[in-house]
Amino acid sequence: MLRRENTREITVGGLKIGHQDKVVIQSMTNTKTKDVKATVAQIKKLEEVGCELIRVAVLDEDDAYAISEIKKEIGIPIVADIHFNADFAIKCIQNGVDKIRLNPGNIEDEAKIKEVVLLAKSRNVPIRIGINAGSLNKKYERSEVSMIESAKDHIRILEALDFHDICLSFKSSDPLETIRAYRLAADTFEYPLHLGVTEAGTLIDSTLKSSLALGNLLLEGIGDTIRISISDDPVKEVIIAKKLLKACGLYKAVPNLIACPTCGRIQYDMLPIVKEIEEYLYTVDKDIEVAIMGCAVNGPGEARGADIGIAGMKDSALLFKKGQIIKTIAAKDIVKTLKEEIDKF
Ligand code: SF4
Repeated sequence: MLRRENTREITVGGLKIGHQDKVVIQSMTNTKTKDVKATVAQIKKLEEVGCELIRVAVLDEDDAYAISEIKKEIGIPIVADIHFNADFAIKCIQNGVDKIRLNPGNIEDEAKIKEVVLLAKSRNVPIRIGINAGSLNKKYERSEVSMIESAKDHIRILEALDFHDICLSFKSSDPLETIRAYRLAADTFEYPLHLGVTEAGTLIDSTLKSSLALGNLLLEGIGDTIRISISDDPVKEVIIAKKLLKACGLYKAVPNLIACPTCGRIQYDMLPIVKEIEEYLYTVDKDIEVAIMGCAVNGPGEARGADIGIAGMKDSALLFKKGQIIKTIAAKDIVKTLKEEIDKF
């Protein structure tokens, strides 16, 4: 088992983050938060694929008031993302938010900060200080050292009020800068770290950059919660986060799908089957390996090695379970049979 940094544990609406707790997967909605119906619908989809903590943007009072309505409909804790306006933080806490993301150093009114922090403390609402390399205070030159110094400026404000329910993030759009910043943060702070590469781009770019940065950090034992930022449907963020944690050996109950790329030997319509089973597996929390293979040349080897596998033939396939051939299935029944076998596993 991977050795993990022993950070201070915080509790976000019953969810533990830090210490040796499992790495928590989070995402962020891209609906208007005040559109409660759309926001709840998106959060429910995210929950279904394994999102454990959801962040919403709070841009005005209506967004802050929407928190209590959204909370009634969802099963995971909610984080309000707030910039500059402390009044919104106060309203979100009053409306039952579980955590806020706020940089206290960005708020000029000290009395207001004190009010937010004391209210957060009385309601056990943690605060994430989110440092982004691209938006550091003007007094700093861009570097990972500056990111750490900037975090210290914000942390001092909270600690002076004896507030320690803190989570930190140090995101950059450059994966290597992200790695350097988090390594330094792990050496400097005891607070739990939320990992992410910011503005990571579209699906392919973000998957690559996030896997490089977060994968390295997670394997070093750094990181208590993660978000994969993608300019796309947030459901994909959660799916990739789960797969990354599985690949790092940190999550077990995530299915693995093996599929051949297909070639001229294929004699059934395999790719739509792979797509449908892939989507089905997103909602399955089992440590299961499923192989979908094209033909009798390389197919049986992989299909035999998986928990459930098929090797294609002409308009049909052989079904394998735990290495044994069970039966021949007609191509039209492959999806149904695989789903049944996955459910039974
Ligand atoms: S398993 Fe068969 S169909 Fe699939 S790539 Fe290999 S040889 Fe081609």
